[in-house]
Amino acid sequence: MARFHLFRKALQSDVRKRTTLSSLAPSRSRSFSQLSSPSQQRPSFGIAFDIDGVILLGDSPVGGSPAALRRLYDSAGSLRIPFVFLTNGGGFPEAKRASELSQILGLNISSSQVLQGHSPFRQLVSRFENEFVVAAGKGEPAAVMSEYGFKNVLSIDEYASCFEHIDPLASYKKWTTENVKVNESTPRNDVLSKRVQAAFIVSDPVDWSRDIQVLCDILTTGGLPGRNIGPQPHLYFANDDLEYQTAFPSERLGMGAFRIALESIFNSIHSQPLKYTSFGKPNPSVFQNAEIVLQQLVPRFHNDVDAINHNNTQHFKTLYMIGDNPAVDIRGARQTGHPWFSILTKTGVFKGKENHDKFPADLVVNTVEEAVDYILTKECCS
Ligand SMILES: [Mg+2]
Repeated sequence: MARFHLFRKALQSDVRKRTTLSSLAPSRSRSFSQLSSPSQQRPSFGIAFDIDGVILLGDSPVGGSPAALRRLYDSAGSLRIPFVFLTNGGGFPEAKRASELSQILGLNISSSQVLQGHSPFRQLVSRFENEFVVAAGKGEPAAVMSEYGFKNVLSIDEYASCFEHIDPLASYKKWTTENVKVNESTPRNDVLSKRVQAAFIVSDPVDWSRDIQVLCDILTTGGLPGRNIGPQPHLYFANDDLEYQTAFPSERLGMGAFRIALESIFNSIHSQPLKYTSFGKPNPSVFQNAEIVLQQLVPRFHNDVDAINHNNTQHFKTLYMIGDNPAVDIRGARQTGHPWFSILTKTGVFKGKENHDKFPADLVVNTVEEAVDYILTKECCS
């Protein structure tokens, strides 16, 4: 209840501030130009934006996101407030996603500002660099893994295409699985005899029936479909989101739903329960990593290279997480604690009027534009 009052108070003061914003406009822009000066103190705050339901709905901007993000750059288009996109989504290498976002939003976004659900898979390269692994999900899951440094990876499309009759429903599916070409560096005979050491669910799986079938084959046989039961290879999920928001009015089933389906089926046909590791928000390690990335973004536009060379000890007073999903974005920021401050928007998964019962945010706003307005008013003009 106390938290609710705080949230209402914050909102009320936000409304008061916004009503006077237009009259303060000249002094506000003066504050910003001072902030972007290299001699100015480094910013004491940073921002992490969720993408789906906050910045975009499907491929279209939502909540005034282009205008809101533009305020974080100076008139020359250089970044002046450190911010990252912290999404559980993915399917494409960070550089490609950054270029897509730049185009949709009309801004200059660098790949280091894009933290996706599968970005932590990088940390597993040393363990699986030369091992045979399979990558599943929409987009270019194998390209993502190759970019991270995995040297022996096939997409589940490529992998399944090597096994005749592995998908009994394949002939009823007329989409892109027809002309899949296997990566030439991995001959077909190798695929049929080499054990898969790990499966990575990089992004939302497209063909659930085929993927559940093939993953059960891999995971029950020690990595060789059609063979006897064997020890379960490793299984990693980029996130565990049950639902997420697209342009459709109600939420869509996400990777967490796929995990439940796979786990339930695997446990019904196998004597040992499924073992797996999930990454992504709300895991606090994702937020801690975002803080490190935000710290690294600061010196770049303050010409403060020394800060990187000396184990950057700059700590932010406040880091703002702006998200639409209470169970993922808000819960994660709350679990991580200081210096995270959570802001919930109403443009995505959350459709309540005030605050979420189970995972209440520090502040609830209608749109990302309101969230950025609140932050800049608080940080630069108060
Ligand atoms: Mg979202």
